[in-house]
Amino acid sequence: MFELVVVSGKGGTGKTTIVGSLAALAEDKLTADCDVDAANLNLVMGNKLQCTERYEGSELAAIDQARCTGCGMCQQACRFSAIYHANRSCAVDPLSCEGCGVCAYVCPAGAVTLSPRVSGHVFISSTPYGTLVHGELRPGEEATGKLVAQVKRRARERAASEGRGFLLVDGAPGIGCPVIASLAGATAVLVVTEPSASALHDLQRVVALARHFGLQIYLAMNKADLERAAARKTYKWAAEQKLPFVGWIPYDEEVTRAQVKGSPLVTCSDGPAARALTGLWRRLENGVMKDGA
Ligand code: SF4
Ligand code: SF4
Repeated sequence: MFELVVVSGKGGTGKTTIVGSLAALAEDKLTADCDVDAANLNLVMGNKLQCTERYEGSELAAIDQARCTGCGMCQQACRFSAIYHANRSCAVDPLSCEGCGVCAYVCPAGAVTLSPRVSGHVFISSTPYGTLVHGELRPGEEATGKLVAQVKRRARERAASEGRGFLLVDGAPGIGCPVIASLAGATAVLVVTEPSASALHDLQRVVALARHFGLQIYLAMNKADLERAAARKTYKWAAEQKLPFVGWIPYDEEVTRAQVKGSPLVTCSDGPAARALTGLWRRLENGVMKDGA
């Protein structure tokens, strides 16, 4: 299966707009949204929820008041200040508990138990553009990378059961754990950038990460005509690095109109950005994907 992950070194580059249009243009594919901190590809693709799976990414401590002697050892050992004294015994503040398990380890009375905590969900949806697997982390929860890995696992399983040859993934922004989980096991990566000094810096960092994974790397520049001097700097750097650009998407107010409407841009516009996205997909389809990995 060919697995293309679309990432950006930072948020707000238009990555989801691009993935939504690629999902509308590509055939024989399944789409996954791994941007679990801000999942919104489903809003663009118009999903109907089929099933929901709980994601238990961490644990939560609880103190059995009948067993607790109030010795305070757990409170002293908890480095997250999640334990407080109450009525001659101790109790856990669930919002502060990180599930590290130290309190259970030090408790001489065996009064502490740890149980799985629901940190988010994995969803499988049907859309007019095929199946979408997506995840959502609960506010304040951590372990984003583990949830991304679970979304990808379910997406691969579902793609295999549907006999799909192509998995299109909306990856997480940045270069941290969620992006690493998005890229793991992929065939190729499409990095979306913008014409600015900070976007070039972010692009360089995410390219270094993709190289670490030995992925085929392709670049696309969104709002490419907004700052031509900065765009030229990015093209020059990419040429020096022998990294191919497959898309140049101009600034286009139709993008905002499509977002308001909740539709992939290419399905509701024939403006310059929509035409550029169609060209981007044709280049990927005819060049990159036919060459194979
Ligand atoms: S260490 Fe155990 S017995 Fe002591 S206060 Fe904590 S829960 Fe209670
Ligand atoms: S599990 Fe860790 S964070 Fe949670 S209360 Fe126990 S020591 Fe504190």
